[in-house]
Amino acid sequence: MTQQNCQCTCGHAKFEALGRPLFRGYCHCTICQAFNQAPYADISVFRGNDVVMPEAGTVQYKTLRPPPAVQRGVCAACGKPAIEYLKMFPMPKLIIVPTANIRDAALIPAPSLHIFYNRRLADIDDGLPKFSGYWKSQLGFGRHLLASLLRKNA
Ligand SMILES: [Zn+2]
Ligand SMILES: [Zn+2]
Repeated sequence: MTQQNCQCTCGHAKFEALGRPLFRGYCHCTICQAFNQAPYADISVFRGNDVVMPEAGTVQYKTLRPPPAVQRGVCAACGKPAIEYLKMFPMPKLIIVPTANIRDAALIPAPSLHIFYNRRLADIDDGLPKFSGYWKSQLGFGRHLLASLLRKNA
C-alpha cells in the first residue's frame, strides 16, 4: 500500500488524494472558526472521486450549520478537523480537506477566494476576491467551483 498523502494532525485519520484539489479558499464563517479553532479555515476542495475516504471509525462526522449540507469529520483520536464532505444538489459530491492536512505540498494550489468575509476577525490584504454574507458566499463558492470544474474537464 502506498503512503497516504493526507492526514490529520496526529496521523490517525489518513486518506489519499488521487488528484489535485479543484481550488483552495478561506472561509471566515463562525462555524469554521470554532471547528478549526482558528480565525478562518484554509480549505482545499476536491472532487468526490478524487479522494479515497479515511477508514471507517477513524473519523467522527457531525452536521453543523451553515451551510446545511456539510458533514464535518474530526479525527476519532485527536479530535482535530480531518475531512469534510458536501452534497448539495445539483453539484457533484465534494470533499473538503483542511489544507494543513495535505502532506504533499505539490498537491496544494494557491488560494483563490475568501468567503463569509464579513465574519473576519482581521482584514486580509491579499488581492483575492472576497465574498460576504450567506448568499454571496454561496455564489462565490459556486462560481469558483464551476470555473475549476470546467478547467479540469477542458
Ligand atoms: Zn488525529
Ligand atoms: Zn465556513
